[in-house]
Amino acid sequence: MPRPVPISEIPGIPPQRVALLKKMGLNTRDDLLFHLPRRYEDRLDPISLAIAPEGEPITVAARVIRSKLNRWRGGRAVFEAILQPLHPDDRAEGLRALWFSAYYLMKSFVADMEILLYGKAKRDKNGKGWVMTHPEFEIMEHDGDESIHLNRIVPIYALTEGLPQRALRRLLYRVVKEMPVLIDDPHPFPDDLPPLREALPQSHFPDSWEAQIAARRRLVYDEFFVQQCILCRRRMSREKIFKSRAQVAAPSAKGKAVVPPLHAAFLATLPFAPTGAQARAMAEIDRDLQLPTPMNRLLQGDVGSGKTLVAVHAMLRAVERGEAAALMAPTEILAEQHYLNLKRWLDPLGISVGLHTGSKKKGDRSPLDNEPLLRSLFGNKGSITVGTHALIHDGFVADKLGLVVIDEQHKFGVMQRLALSRKASHPDILVMTATPIPRTLAMSVYGDLDASILDELPPGRGKIVTACRGEADLPKVWKFIRDETAAGRQAYVVYPLIDESDKIEAKAVQKEYERLKVELAPARVGLLHGRLKPDEKDEVMTQFRNNEIQVLVSTPVIEVGVDVPNSTIMVIENAERFGLAQLHQLRGRIGRGGNKSYCVLVGQPKSEESWRRLKVMEQTTDGFKIAEEDLRIRGPGDILGTDQSGLPPLRFGDPLRDFEMLRRAKTDAEELLRVDPELKKYPSLKAILEGDGARRQSLASVS
Ligand code: ADP
Ligand code: MG
Repeated sequence: MPRPVPISEIPGIPPQRVALLKKMGLNTRDDLLFHLPRRYEDRLDPISLAIAPEGEPITVAARVIRSKLNRWRGGRAVFEAILQPLHPDDRAEGLRALWFSAYYLMKSFVADMEILLYGKAKRDKNGKGWVMTHPEFEIMEHDGDESIHLNRIVPIYALTEGLPQRALRRLLYRVVKEMPVLIDDPHPFPDDLPPLREALPQSHFPDSWEAQIAARRRLVYDEFFVQQCILCRRRMSREKIFKSRAQVAAPSAKGKAVVPPLHAAFLATLPFAPTGAQARAMAEIDRDLQLPTPMNRLLQGDVGSGKTLVAVHAMLRAVERGEAAALMAPTEILAEQHYLNLKRWLDPLGISVGLHTGSKKKGDRSPLDNEPLLRSLFGNKGSITVGTHALIHDGFVADKLGLVVIDEQHKFGVMQRLALSRKASHPDILVMTATPIPRTLAMSVYGDLDASILDELPPGRGKIVTACRGEADLPKVWKFIRDETAAGRQAYVVYPLIDESDKIEAKAVQKEYERLKVELAPARVGLLHGRLKPDEKDEVMTQFRNNEIQVLVSTPVIEVGVDVPNSTIMVIENAERFGLAQLHQLRGRIGRGGNKSYCVLVGQPKSEESWRRLKVMEQTTDGFKIAEEDLRIRGPGDILGTDQSGLPPLRFGDPLRDFEMLRRAKTDAEELLRVDPELKKYPSLKAILEGDGARRQSLASVS
């Protein structure tokens, strides 16, 4: 590989600028090449304000007439520039630009100066011309560099303080246009994509939008390709360890039944038959368990699709082998509920189920909760423990932990998941999620997991009707709850809670609870929030489960997992404060029995956009569609933190928008590693994957 050229060796860059670039992590010429624009401006075909698409940012050229600082009461100041648009069709119109609290701009603007503004333009309220609020701007200088900054598709870069846009652009222009781009392609790539030596220059100073798109596709492909190589190599190395282990280990290490198969006996005790999707997932798990490598499976299924049953199946397989299984849930309420369910299902089979949360540690057959006892539970017979995070620490010991199940895995970070599986040597792992991860995202993040999908709800589920209402409609909503509870149904009323530990918020639900107790009488109302003591939470949940209370006023602590089939109403107040995925989760608490259910989203959305967002809930109950919509609105970061995967964040690609590219990169990466697992033919790819510092970082942000 050619030696990287330090920026300081590029002629004509002043040392203080080299220092600024260094501050941005740009040390070599290649770093500069991979510092791609964050966006582009079309300065080739200026568009008239009069026909610009409404609500979309545009670039406007204008001359400064005058500027001033307006002080407002309360100390806020607005910097205002009165401008003359330069587009011939806009000559008759005025344009104002406003910047709040921007004293520093005072010196920038001089009458007659020409500037370019980028932002959204609106009709001015005074009826004369246009106004732009907080536009980005660039001063047009007639310094002979017009061919770089004007009359083309112009790159706009991320900057650091003290580094002007034009200076960085000029530098990149020189690097790209005046020095040969000697970057070799580190790995094979599809024919219809340009080589890097073409893609990089074109992504800085594209000759056309087509060229820019093609160049971006290439960089996105490379990014996904490297990511998929990492995932594929992880999987291969895991398989290698276990192949060699399997050869030395006694043949009975896995798969040997200590007790007779429990699967059939278990199904026989259930009041229902598994759905087709559940049966398929169980078979996929059984197949994994035949292999010498540990299982690493994601079970993805919409709320209410019956993931618990599949988990129990997997846990029974561990018990059959004489091993222990642990199920970790994100809340005590959910752990408790799983515990009760599992006891109900497994008691008839004589299998002990333990509970291990922060406040409770119990083995099934003994009131004592100490370690030796837990240990004794995991004797030769194999056993099952349900718990919360407390399983990770708090003295939870499982001698032969063969399976770890993580429920609602999106609620845990990657470290917590690993911590539990480290309690044993390479246990089988099943992670379950009900916040449906769009397939696209799952593939990029969990490329090294196998996935089972429950795409079918158990039969006999009542329909759910969803309606968005304003606060003025609340009296009608309460009347509806009174009628339905009188008819034997139950209801949830949920209030947002930003911080579980927040006393003020807890008080707020407390107040609503006092009010609703009166409003909803004679129905009995209970209160649940995160600051209750575990015993109190239990008490309320038990009463609700037994229909001793009909309405549960709650914070989102009931968001995940809670399963009370007789409840058919979900009212969510301040619904605009929830993400769609979370609303979907909450709504998943109803529609679990045979009766028709109702979800009412009460809110005062401030904008058209946030109403539109809520309305998505009226249109679909398909969790995957909702998750994709959420992803579209909020970006992947909010749904899955990057710590979920242990992979570096993506810089160029978007797994949703660029799904096709992701798929190609995955296939290609697997194929390449199959034929050339040691990457003998691609040493630079190997260097990227194995950490050749700067280059690796710049090429695909793989750190
Ligand atoms: P989730 O996938 O949201 O975790 P659960 O496992 O809590 O769903 O299941 C939701 C409800 O459906 C539970 O009451 C469970 O007993 C019930 N259930 C699960 N599988 C079936 C089935 N095959 N037929 C009928 N009901 C089922
Ligand atoms: Mg569940």
